[in-house]
Amino acid sequence: MELEELPNIGATTAEKLRDGGFNSIESIAVANPAEIKEIGGIGEAVAAKIINAARDSMEMRFMTGTEVLEKRKTMKKIPTSSSALDELLGGGIESQAITEFFGEFGSGKTQIGHQLAVNIQIPDEETGIGKSVIYLDTENTFRPERIIQIAEGAGMDPESVLENTIVARAYNSDHQMVIIDRVESVIKEKNVGLIVVDSLTSHFRADYTGRGMLADRQQKLNRHMHDLQKLSDMHNLAVVVTNQVMARPDFFFGDPTTSIGGHIVGHSSTFRLYLRKSKGGKRVARLIDSPSLPDGEAIFSVVKEGIRD
Ligand code: ATP
Ligand code: MG
Repeated sequence: MELEELPNIGATTAEKLRDGGFNSIESIAVANPAEIKEIGGIGEAVAAKIINAARDSMEMRFMTGTEVLEKRKTMKKIPTSSSALDELLGGGIESQAITEFFGEFGSGKTQIGHQLAVNIQIPDEETGIGKSVIYLDTENTFRPERIIQIAEGAGMDPESVLENTIVARAYNSDHQMVIIDRVESVIKEKNVGLIVVDSLTSHFRADYTGRGMLADRQQKLNRHMHDLQKLSDMHNLAVVVTNQVMARPDFFFGDPTTSIGGHIVGHSSTFRLYLRKSKGGKRVARLIDSPSLPDGEAIFSVVKEGIRD
């Protein structure tokens, strides 16, 4: 459904909304009036009406438990190349879900992102997947050389792996959101099975500094996560996001994510793994609050060939 089909939205308003980053009915439905007013030329009362119309027009889709089960049967699991990590995850990174890796610098978030970018491409006969990947790089830490090493480590053809790794650089948080807004055609065209967002939060943190902007930031992040969730659901793909948090030696396992993105990110991720560095270059991943898996820990390492036990 196009924006113009909403009542009271003419071509000009639709244009303004699109320019402001509201490309879909859904993005409007989850907005608040102040956000829409912000894009200019639309008053708060009209903004509220537009939002209500968008909400009304959204199809309410109810499914029976059986249908949900059927859908879950199409779910794929991407292996991580660490059997301990796979076991912790109940087999691997699930499609139709967002998996968040959070932890301090150097804890292995980007390395896992690279490994998964390769593993989604393992041929269909072995994993039932064999798809391509979109790597949304916000910190300029994507390294094709690393993909080559990891692909070689997995006995795959590095050239073809690189060809099926579609990289998008995001230069700020708005840009990041627009990329995800427009990514659907690429997903279909390139048969994408995984989207890596590395890092989910760095731009949001930089763009919304200061106390007064916290609510805005959370709202934007919320919308971004919602967009990602929807893509994963509609295209049976896995979304993996990374989130840097400071190591806090003074706490144990209360809430280590108070810093960035906070509860918004936490509540919209289906699986959350907290990574920390351990002795002898080992890393520990801890699964937190999974809807269906027991909480637990796995030890893995980062080597030249990628992620291993
Ligand atoms: P940040 O929050 O700064 O983005 P991160 O969690 O993404 O950190 P990574 O970049 O995934 O951290 O991890 C970096 C670590 O991975 C290095 O410190 C090193 O221990 C390991 N590493 C990276 N490349 C290799 C390699 N080629 N061989 C062995 N280990 C490597
Ligand atoms: Mg990183």
